[in-house]
Amino acid sequence: MDASPAGSLRDVPRWDESCGVLVIGLGCAGACAALAAAEAGADVTVLERAGAGGGTSALSGGLVYLGGGTPIQADCGFEDDPDSMARYLLAACGPDPDAAKIERYAADSVAHFHWLVARGVPFRPSFHPGTGIEPPTEDGLVFSGSENAHPFRELARPAPRGHCPARPGAAGGLLMDKLLACVAAAPGIRVSPDSRAETLILDDDGRVVGAAVRRAGQRFFLGAEGGVVLAAGGFIQNREMVARHAPALLRCKVRLGCDGDDGRGIQMGLAAGGAPRRLEAGSISLPFYPPEGLKRGILVNARGERFINEDAYYGLVGEHALLRQEGRVHLIIDEAVNERPMAGMEIVASGDTPE
Ligand SMILES: Cc1cc2nc3c(=O)[nH]c(=O)nc-3n(C[C@H](O)[C@H](O)[C@H](O)COP(=O)(O)OP(=O)(O)OC[C@H]3O[C@@H](n4cnc5c(N)ncnc54)[C@H](O)[C@@H]3O)c2cc1C
Repeated sequence: MDASPAGSLRDVPRWDESCGVLVIGLGCAGACAALAAAEAGADVTVLERAGAGGGTSALSGGLVYLGGGTPIQADCGFEDDPDSMARYLLAACGPDPDAAKIERYAADSVAHFHWLVARGVPFRPSFHPGTGIEPPTEDGLVFSGSENAHPFRELARPAPRGHCPARPGAAGGLLMDKLLACVAAAPGIRVSPDSRAETLILDDDGRVVGAAVRRAGQRFFLGAEGGVVLAAGGFIQNREMVARHAPALLRCKVRLGCDGDDGRGIQMGLAAGGAPRRLEAGSISLPFYPPEGLKRGILVNARGERFINEDAYYGLVGEHALLRQEGRVHLIIDEAVNERPMAGMEIVASGDTPE
């Protein structure tokens, strides 16, 4: 059998190993799936192509989008409910958002918060007033989207929902340390590092029953009676896939993600008959702040036209800048706002008037 993303059970001479549920990838999604499966009684194997788990999740800011009335929101004096959270997400995740998924996500959000806390993820009951960024403190709550900005604040009661694990700055490492410790301690979970899933194995009915895996240069077959969970990240490191599915992203100066984001998991899912949505989407950040004061500047496109309210989340600003303004925008600030922008932003001109 070659390394195509799907293979047939007929070509598998025997299973070298077997398990109940096979999880492919040990980032945040894979760790949560493995823990949930083991807690439901499954015998779980997790494959991770790197030497240890973590993935892009460990490199991330670690802000977890939770709301609907979590204890941290209440302790910080913010009212929230699942309906307001769902209405914001419906407005922010367009076009054609998956309403059923969003409503369920919002309805279960307080339970998700308690699930993470029960697994040792620490959140402090304090609010950080900056927007969209990981707090430089151990504060547990921030506005991490455009909830408080036009037009969203008119569509749904705004509440901060970015829950930050208690570590100053990027806290993805702390989030993953805690989840990986639970995975390591769970009796029903076996983690196989340095093991790259290459091919899903399908039986004659098209059911996924295992995978072909490469470990230490050797190929072996792993059977999974209870199903396979693909949690192998995205494809930002695979130029050909980005060019095919999300060509606009090629224009970004920096493309962030772990080495494992080579799209193999998505290719395996596609070859098994899966139908992914939104392969063209990406998280496009234009972090023109902090410092927060820069939001009092004016963002204009290459023709000098204002195109968005500057207090919108920089992920939304990035999307508008790249997809609607040809990827070229300028921030005009005056003396009152004159603070040094973050690294990567060049000062291209100065003058007595905006013109
Ligand atoms: C700088 C940065 C900051 C971010 N900040 C935030 C934030 O604050 N909040 C937020 O919600 N999101 C944030 N994100 C986005 C977030 O990090 C990702 O959406 C999230 O980590 C994806 O998790 P995952 O488990 O799906 O993938 P990953 O964490 O990437 O895990 C996938 C794992 O699968 C492994 N793998 C891949 N292929 C195979 C294979 N064939 N066989 C075996 N293993 C395989 C990889 O090695 C990896 O360990 C940020 C992203 C970046 C880059």
